[in-house]
Parts: sequence; C-alpha cells; structure tokens
Amino acid sequence: MTEDAIIIGGGFAGLSAALQLARARRRITVLDTGEPRNRFAARSHGFLAQDGRPGRDILAEARRQLYAYDTVTFRDAPAERLDGERDGFSVVTGDGGRIEGRRVLLATGFEDRLPDIPGLAERWGRTVLHCPYCHGYEVGGGPVGVLARTAEAARFAAVVADWGDVTLFTNMVPEPDEEALAVLAARKVRLRPGRVTAIADGPDGMLSVETGPGIPTLVKALFVMPEARVRSDIPAERGLKLKETPVGSILATDDTGQTSLPGLYAAGDIALGAANISLASANGVKTAVFLHHSLIWPSH
Ligand SMILES: Cc1cc2nc3c(=O)[nH]c(=O)nc-3n(C[C@H](O)[C@H](O)[C@H](O)COP(=O)(O)OP(=O)(O)OC[C@H]3O[C@@H](n4cnc5c(N)ncnc54)[C@H](O)[C@@H]3O)c2cc1C
Repeated sequence: MTEDAIIIGGGFAGLSAALQLARARRRITVLDTGEPRNRFAARSHGFLAQDGRPGRDILAEARRQLYAYDTVTFRDAPAERLDGERDGFSVVTGDGGRIEGRRVLLATGFEDRLPDIPGLAERWGRTVLHCPYCHGYEVGGGPVGVLARTAEAARFAAVVADWGDVTLFTNMVPEPDEEALAVLAARKVRLRPGRVTAIADGPDGMLSVETGPGIPTLVKALFVMPEARVRSDIPAERGLKLKETPVGSILATDDTGQTSLPGLYAAGDIALGAANISLASANGVKTAVFLHHSLIWPSH
C-alpha cells in the first residue's frame, strides 16, 4: 500500500504535520528515532499552555492523541535512504523495511556541535544553554556568560543582557567592531578575552569558566550558539539545495515548504534555522497543509 505521505522525524514539527494530515484522513507513516533536540533539558519553556512541561511529555501526549487516527502508522526506526521521486518515493528504513509514499516530509531536526571545551558538553541543557527565551528566566538573574563561537556572539550577548549581568568570553573569535562595542557597553556587557580552556563546577552551584592562567570567572549559566547540523544524510545524497544561516546550513525551501526535490518537503529546525518548539510546530502545520494540497492539485 502506498502512503499519501511519509514523515521522517516525529518531533515537534513532524507530529504537528502528522496531525493535520491525519485529520484530512490521509494515510501516513511517521518514522522516528526518539531523540528530539531538546532532550538534554529537563523542562521546556515558552510553548503556549505547556510552559515548564518536560518536552518528552509533550511529544508523548501528541503521539497518544495521534494513535486515535486509524490512517496513522508509527514506526520507531530511522529512515536511512530516500529513493524515487514525486508520487513514487520509497524510504528504506533501518529495521530492514521499505515504505512507499507519494510525498515525503523531512523533519529530522538538528544535531548540535558544541565547541570542544572540557566540561561543556556534559552541562548542555542544564547550565550550558543555547536560548535565553527557553531557559534564561529560570537562571534568575545575576552573573551569566556568553561564549563566542562566531562574530554573531556580540549581538547575542547584548540580547542576553536582559537575563543577567553578562560576561562575553571572546574565545579567540575576532573582537566585536566599534558599533557592537558601543551597544555592548550600553548593555553593560563585560568582555573577557582569551581562549576558554575549561568549564568546571564552582562554589555555590556556580560555573567556573577558565581562560588560561589567572582567576576563573564565576557565572550561573553559560550561553552558547552551537553549530547545528541537519540530522540526516538524505539532503546530501539527493543533492538538495541548502541555505546558510548563522547556526549552519539548513534546507532551502519555497513558500510551501517544498525542497529543491519536487514532492519532498522539509519542516521544523532544518527548514527554519534558529527556531524553537512553537515555530517548529507552526512550520510543521503550514507545510503539511501545502503538502496536502499538492496531493489534490497536480500543479502544486
Ligand atoms: C538543550 C535545548 C533545550 C531547548 N529548550 C527549548 C525550550 O525550552 N523551548 C523551546 O521552545 N525550544 C527549545 N529548544 C529548541 C527545540 O528543541 C527545537 O526547536 C525543536 O525540537 C525543533 O523541532 P523539530 O521537530 O524540528 O526537531 P526535533 O524536535 O529535534 O525532532 C526531530 C525528530 O526526528 C528524529 N529523527 C532524526 N533523524 C531521523 C531519521 N533519520 N529517521 C527517523 N527519525 C529521525 C529525532 O530522533 C527526533 O525525534 C531547545 C533546544 C535545545 C538544544
């Protein structure tokens, strides 16, 4: 049996898309490996009516509601390869299967590549954070750090100053230009030059940020914008067009969410770049509606 759509990735975008297609009584299969990007954080914030709820609980509830639709199939397996084209796609799965579908929606999310600094990775999602809107309020003010990875860090640090007293660790990234320095000064952001060599536990639950010999800086949390990579080999294997963003390469899509391969759509972080649960979910909904229309109108 050929599915109307195969959704690769059952995170916030993928399940939001699945719900729209299920409600249109379309046959879909959702493939998922159960590793949403925010799995490192105990709680999720900023998603309307779900503020503070663990992200995995939101996804479990979404799945539970989707089980009520009898045209939806879940398969907890990775999509390993995508063959074929519009109206005749075929997805090879990691459990040795093959699923046929008229359309495919990629919603595999990002994998974050953190700077290689001892002590950073094990604190990811707890005291090393990427998004002040998601977790900044809970830090509760006081000294916080921003770790530079690219020149974008100056802009980021000026924004983070609404959540605490910021030290910007320039970490050998070129120093901010004059305009940025003026904004940083107005926002009372301090600059700490030098390479960050380690992150360790400090006194009273603080983080100790070490920049070579000398006194480490104590902060309550350290913000960093890591490089994000699309979690799938399919874009490279199918030669999909990419788009550069400050966080890394994402999939180029048109206004309907369609990638450069007709019939293959993309939604969520991998189509948006810097995003969050609300934006990924909304994008999943929008893309699913256009995908649905394309099943009806040959020219869509
Ligand atoms: C530490 C951290 C904390 C965050 N906290 C918040 C927060 O509090 N609030 C907020 O709004 N945003 C938060 N975010 C951002 C949020 O996690 C993302 O914006 C959101 O998860 C994007 O949704 P998505 O559906 O695009 O991808 P994801 O939610 O990452 O889902 C992708 C799914 O696809 C699956 N998958 C990947 N490859 C395959 C494959 N080949 N085959 C099958 N399945 C596959 C994955 O296992 C995963 O289940 C946080 C991010 C991080 C890193």
